[in-house]
Amino acid sequence: MPNITIAIDGFSSCGKSTLAKEIAEKLQYSYVDSGAMYRAVTLYLLNKGILKDGSFIKSQVLDALPNINISFEINPDKKRSETHLNGNNVEKEIRKLHVAQHVSAVSAIPEVRTKLVAMQQNFGQNGAVVMDGRDIGTVVFPRAEVKLFMTASKDIRAQRRYDELLAKGDKVNLDEIRQNLVKRDYIDMNRDVSPLKKAEDAIEIDNSELTREEQLDLALNIIQKAIDKSTIEA
Ligand code: C5P
Repeated sequence: MPNITIAIDGFSSCGKSTLAKEIAEKLQYSYVDSGAMYRAVTLYLLNKGILKDGSFIKSQVLDALPNINISFEINPDKKRSETHLNGNNVEKEIRKLHVAQHVSAVSAIPEVRTKLVAMQQNFGQNGAVVMDGRDIGTVVFPRAEVKLFMTASKDIRAQRRYDELLAKGDKVNLDEIRQNLVKRDYIDMNRDVSPLKKAEDAIEIDNSELTREEQLDLALNIIQKAIDKSTIEA
């Protein structure tokens, strides 16, 4: 069976990572959460006081970049890959709202993108990878065999993120989450470098009315066709 590349892009909190993980598990592919990498850089800048009160001095960010090392390690108890920043597990911290509130500004910095895109291309160089993000099908893997573009209504996305954070024990406010999603989408779609947009050859999935199983079936159907096509062409 050929080892293809599966790129999943879309708006914030559309269930991209849920779908990506399920596909990776089904196909025994590796999964890379590119958003976690932008979140980890943001956390580093916050912790170092380089990002303060929503602003930063760009030269300080550029000086900090070489000191930021991001890796994904399997947590043996949870049997899932977790994000590490300079050797420390930051999986839980990067999901918090204070990181989400600053990550889109950080991900709009071209040099941050250059560093992370190179790492992402390296992670996926042998194929057999599912990667989710905002620019995977357009910039990171423009030749990916499968490109999915996920969308869902704003209210449904806010409610899902709210439920997820609440279940983790975070004190959250639905309105604040909705505002964060709208703001992040706006910045992500309007930045100069690699803005969030649907690749011309991506297949759009609106999962507002789909169950997780229905969404997975739909995606696996699309993937199977791509695998069949790659097998014929090989
Ligand atoms: O996917 P997630 O919501 O964790 O991503 C957090 C943020 O990281 C996004 O809002 C976006 O600003 C940025 N991002 C990006 N490019 C990617 C993945 C994420 O700019 N490929």
